[in-house]
Amino acid sequence: MNIPESSLPRVVIIGGGFAGINFARKIANKNVQVVLIDKRNYHTFQPLLYQVSSAGLEPDSIAYPLRKILKNHKNTFFRLAEVESINSEKNNIKTSIGNLDYDYLVIATGTKTNYFGNESIETHGMPMKKVPQALNIRSLILQNFEQAAITNDKETRKALLNFVIVGGGPTGVELAGAIAELKNHILPRDYRDLIPEDMQIYLLEGGARVLPTMSEHASKKAAKFLSKLGVLVHCNTFVKNYDGKKVLTNLSLELQSETLIWAAGVTGNPVKGLQAEALIDRANRYKVNEYNQVEGYNTIFALGDISLMQTDAYPNGHPQVAQPAIQQGELLGKNLIKLIEGKPLKKFKYKDKGSMATVGRNKAVVDLKHFRFAGFFAWFVWMFVHLMALVGFRNRVIVFFNWGYNYINFDKAARLIIRPFRKLNQ
Ligand SMILES: Cc1cc2nc3c(=O)[nH]c(=O)nc-3n(C[C@H](O)[C@H](O)[C@H](O)COP(=O)(O)OP(=O)(O)OC[C@H]3O[C@@H](n4cnc5c(N)ncnc54)[C@H](O)[C@@H]3O)c2cc1C
Repeated sequence: MNIPESSLPRVVIIGGGFAGINFARKIANKNVQVVLIDKRNYHTFQPLLYQVSSAGLEPDSIAYPLRKILKNHKNTFFRLAEVESINSEKNNIKTSIGNLDYDYLVIATGTKTNYFGNESIETHGMPMKKVPQALNIRSLILQNFEQAAITNDKETRKALLNFVIVGGGPTGVELAGAIAELKNHILPRDYRDLIPEDMQIYLLEGGARVLPTMSEHASKKAAKFLSKLGVLVHCNTFVKNYDGKKVLTNLSLELQSETLIWAAGVTGNPVKGLQAEALIDRANRYKVNEYNQVEGYNTIFALGDISLMQTDAYPNGHPQVAQPAIQQGELLGKNLIKLIEGKPLKKFKYKDKGSMATVGRNKAVVDLKHFRFAGFFAWFVWMFVHLMALVGFRNRVIVFFNWGYNYINFDKAARLIIRPFRKLNQ
């Protein structure tokens, strides 16, 4: 892997997501050699993936080169590789470009899409976890519009213009709102040969309300905003089968649709090699103590979505969102240096900064610890928080101008089919 030998302890980080980069930034420039490994050469700001899918932003506004994050830090190296397994007895990892020894290993591999064993959805549904997947969705939506514009068959056109989103969490709600904006503002202008009323957006949620992890207030408001935008919300509805054409649910609801977007769940993305007891099976997450040390190991740590730290306040682990990943990464950055220097470590305590979701172009819901609000001001807060959280000044500026332009012009600038999506069997 061409990493120079050094007298400094080597810290290997697997994954340049929120946890990995915040840990790397804290520990870089200290008396350690840092090697960050990721199978992509960029960090993905997943909260805004839905805007790439719905033609609101280009992918380079929400992705950031990992080498650029490390560029000013001495003793740091980036390698583009997939980590395949860990050999904890030899303090060694196997990757797609060779093996590497470590003194300390930090696993921050996040999650992957969970289809809950439904092969039909895995085969025909559209996941939205990575930039290429978001681009696939964007292409498919626009290709469907193009196809619908040239078809005379009413049923075929209906299936092309029926968009089914599964999962009423923040991702599903935000995506449904953004696709509704396409229907309300882009379709009438760009596709004058189509009737906007022919396009339907369905949001299917298995639980009793959308945004189940937020307050009842937020759920009610979000459902109201979605309905105003024309999104058809169905709660207590599970998808049983999807063959690429027809969606079957647990209820009598059946939908003809060429597009099913799967935003209904994730599961941990562990690396092979650690003992079975280190993993909590049901969640596929590493069991860690309050210092993020993986159970049974002194020199292996897990951070963010892939870790599960059971505390009195969070008996099932922290929520799999950005803040725990960022906070754990920052704390471990300080703790690892203390560990190397033989000093006492600080326990992790999660500071919950609240949760939020946006619905369409000027509405959002926000839950803070002591109060909650919804509507235009909430949307403003949502925008500010997301802009500030984006990695890189350039990305912030680009996203800010894009949002401003889109808001004033009721437009979505990125509606380009750059890389056509080919459906299975086509
Ligand atoms: C569509 C979507 C929307 C979201 N919206 C929000 C939101 O609005 N607010 C919020 O707080 N959270 C949101 N989240 C959740 C949030 O993005 C995650 O909680 C956060 O990214 C977790 O950070 P992490 O560092 O643990 O993992 P990730 O950010 O997922 O990073 C994992 C990294 O590990 C790399 N990797 C994985 N396996 C390997 C391997 N074997 N070898 C090499 N590299 C590997 C991956 O390429 C990736 O770069 C959303 C998630 C998704 C998918």
